Amino acid sequence: MAKQEDFSVLIVGAGPSGLLLALLLARKGINVKVIERSSEYDKQPRASFYSYPATYEFKRAGILDDVKAKSFFADGVSWRQIDHSLVAQIRTDDAPEDMKNISLPLDELLPLIGSHLDKQPTAEILWSHTVTALGQDDTQAWVYVETPNSNQRLSATYLVGCDGGGSKIRRELFGSNFPGRTWDEQIVATNVYLPDLKNHVPPDWTSSNFMVSRDHFPMIAQISNDGLTRVTYGEDGGLSYDEMRARQPEKYKAFVPGKPEPSDYKLINFSPYKIHQRLAEHLRVGRVLLAADAAHLCNPFGGMGLTGGFADVGGLYDCLYGIYSGQADDSILDKYSEIRRQKYLDIIDPISSGNLRRLWDPKAIEENDDFIKNVKRAQTDKEFANEMQQGVKAVMYDFTQHYNKA
Ligand SMILES: Cc1cc2nc3c(=O)[nH]c(=O)nc-3n(C[C@H](O)[C@H](O)[C@H](O)COP(=O)(O)OP(=O)(O)OC[C@H]3O[C@@H](n4cnc5c(N)ncnc54)[C@H](O)[C@@H]3O)c2cc1C
Repeated sequence: MAKQEDFSVLIVGAGPSGLLLALLLARKGINVKVIERSSEYDKQPRASFYSYPATYEFKRAGILDDVKAKSFFADGVSWRQIDHSLVAQIRTDDAPEDMKNISLPLDELLPLIGSHLDKQPTAEILWSHTVTALGQDDTQAWVYVETPNSNQRLSATYLVGCDGGGSKIRRELFGSNFPGRTWDEQIVATNVYLPDLKNHVPPDWTSSNFMVSRDHFPMIAQISNDGLTRVTYGEDGGLSYDEMRARQPEKYKAFVPGKPEPSDYKLINFSPYKIHQRLAEHLRVGRVLLAADAAHLCNPFGGMGLTGGFADVGGLYDCLYGIYSGQADDSILDKYSEIRRQKYLDIIDPISSGNLRRLWDPKAIEENDDFIKNVKRAQTDKEFANEMQQGVKAVMYDFTQHYNKA
């Protein structure tokens, strides 16, 4: 086992999972380097909503107050037919603050975590460093890295792939084998200012609203305090970027309240995404680990992606800190792989798949959907509503229970 002063972790990817893991470890005095191929934080419209498993880790990383200060607190979520009539709704106005979903677009969250990481003496982010290969032996793992000026070999006690859905670390371990499936549909995520929206929404509108339609399956949500709105919707799998870009104004007219013309809004981002449900065969191979999107993917309806990713990060932090501090041996990392995979199979995959399919059949959502039946029950039964809200905690797992008893 490495002595504490020799213990170090290399993390590939300065996305949300890599940065948060680095911050958690660095706050314990662990030497950590984050290797990032880009020269700046990602600005794509991706994660924005975070539930309890994320805010729990923000608290442990010492950033929760700063995150809250910038965040928008969601007042609830609704499921609606495409004409905006209400099917069911969860209101969170009265929920305890730690159980409310908060929204902070990723392009604001990343520099926030990064600013805390920059203050840690044992942490460093290496920008414009692209990992091209890896290796390991009994004592170390290493990566080969290309920078604009040089090629390098960097090594550490452990290496963690937080390098996203196309993970180079995962491909080095398993080739193209990433079991699961890709949906026939694709989605388009837009960020937009719609100043007139509030004049057209029904009175029971909540900050997040899903709509049921096989053609569009839209989601409209306020994501920041200045009124920035995320409009996400479905598209045919075979369309090109240019075709989808050309169809965007008609799409908005089909489901955004008030049927706005392009002159009625300011489009900030437009990003199509292929969507997948996939899980790596192992999240540990020797000294190399996978977390978050590098380990598993799901469609983004319901915000399970990074919720599961941050739960990985919190678990892996406890495992690595346990080894560093002598409270665990490295077999705890096999537990990490086994349990985080099971959480994906039991919770993240079925729930996120259900969240998407629920938006496809206007009749089924009214008549046969057990989840919607529960939401309706929660509308009048406070205790049951509380139980439902706590349900998201099931994605978490406390690995300190596997620390050595002595
Ligand atoms: C439209 C949309 C909306 C979403 N909304 C939500 C939501 O509301 N809530 C939620 O929980 N989740 C949501 N998700 C999912 C969430 O965005 C992802 O789960 C999350 O961004 C994954 O974070 P990550 O750190 O694992 O990977 P990434 O954010 O993909 O970061 C990976 C990093 O690794 C770097 N990298 C890659 N390869 C290399 C290499 N070879 N060398 C060096 N660096 C490399 C990349 O440049 C990148 O910076 C959404 C996703 C989408 C598409």
